[in-house]
Amino acid sequence: MTITVDMINRWDEEDGLKKYRDEFYIKEGSIYMDGNSLGLLSKRAESSLLSLLDSWKNHGIDGWTSGEEPWFYFAEKLGELSAPLVGAKKEEVMVTGSTTGNLHQLLATFYDPKEKRTKIVADELNFPSDIYAVQSILKLKGFNPDEQLIRVKSRDGHTICEEDIINELNEEVAILILPTVLYRSGQLFDIEKITKAAHEKGVIVGWDGCHSVGAIPHRFHQWEVDFAYWCNYKYLNAGPGGVGALFVHEKHFDKTPGLTGWFGSDKQKQFDMEHTFTPATTSGAYQIGTPHIFSMAPLLGSLKMFEEIGMKKIRDKSLHQTRVMMELIEQELSGYGFKMTNPLEDVCRGGHVSLEHPEAARICKSLKELGVVPDFRKPNIIRLAPVALYSTYKDLYETVQILRNIMNEKHYEKYSNEREVVA
Ligand SMILES: *Cc1c(COP(=O)(O)O)cnc(C)c1O
Repeated sequence: MTITVDMINRWDEEDGLKKYRDEFYIKEGSIYMDGNSLGLLSKRAESSLLSLLDSWKNHGIDGWTSGEEPWFYFAEKLGELSAPLVGAKKEEVMVTGSTTGNLHQLLATFYDPKEKRTKIVADELNFPSDIYAVQSILKLKGFNPDEQLIRVKSRDGHTICEEDIINELNEEVAILILPTVLYRSGQLFDIEKITKAAHEKGVIVGWDGCHSVGAIPHRFHQWEVDFAYWCNYKYLNAGPGGVGALFVHEKHFDKTPGLTGWFGSDKQKQFDMEHTFTPATTSGAYQIGTPHIFSMAPLLGSLKMFEEIGMKKIRDKSLHQTRVMMELIEQELSGYGFKMTNPLEDVCRGGHVSLEHPEAARICKSLKELGVVPDFRKPNIIRLAPVALYSTYKDLYETVQILRNIMNEKHYEKYSNEREVVA
């Protein structure tokens, strides 16, 4: 089947989510394909940030308990609004910390090496920050990370075979840390299957949801996921450095967090100022210090859009858009040396398309000059992420046309093939 301009126009007209595009600030004449790295600002996120600023202006210290969104309960409120995105009970999700900080917190809580069971299993394509956190908890507990951290190998350099992960799990493994979606190739794991297999071997499982939350529905509670953590600045559009989130299954609410601080207190007790810690009986216990209100504020407006739409429609459009993108690439870009490294089947494809090319770094520079914002990942990967809330089918079509022109004209040759400081 050939994709025609008529088809592109029809998909845009029939798009049930098209009105949401107008809610975002999209630079005139620019095509944004980098929402999996930093989502764009929406008007609702902007207005929730301004409204929280106003509450400081109008209430001073009383903003903790007065105003439209009392700050003292804001993390809990955002947790409750986030819960449907991950299929959790509202007490199981808290908006706090950062992805990496939350992983440190969760490892400090759940990594409890006993006798032979001391190892942590991850994968060799894992995001570096997660690996650094795992290495550091192993060191803190007096182990050698080179011996205790097992990284499951990739057979093709892009994806990880689920059976290879499951085969590494045994009575020597304490925790399995995996991303729900691999950040480079966009492979989506079968979270339910792997969690179940790990539990059968007595292994606790923690999932990094950075590349799936806001793009893909989850059922963390039902799947009995032990814990999860993610950022809110990618598909959730909560702004650079926006506060992250964590999930702890209610079956673990009897645990005391490894890293404690007064904002993890039972809210009724916190201001008793006692030196004996009385933790909240929910995921709220995993908070540490005073919440970063202004770095959480945009998430409120953003989550209201997700609440309105529901994850199913978002996932359906996202899958269709990545499918169309893949077909366009095949149709328009064969013979130029691109290799698609994302999984092709819907069940294991995340929210982006991943293209390998030896000239990837400078092709990305050309794309930027010509109005497309892509994402480069070392050594040779171009990631293109259509985002259901604001990408049009025309964006996809034009991106591929621009890529074809770049290849035809060898436009990229004017740049060096090196990454930028931030890439
Ligand atoms: C973006 C991302 C992170 C980032 O961690 P921060 O602590 O938010 O900087 C971590 N893990 C994965 C898989 C990511 O995609």
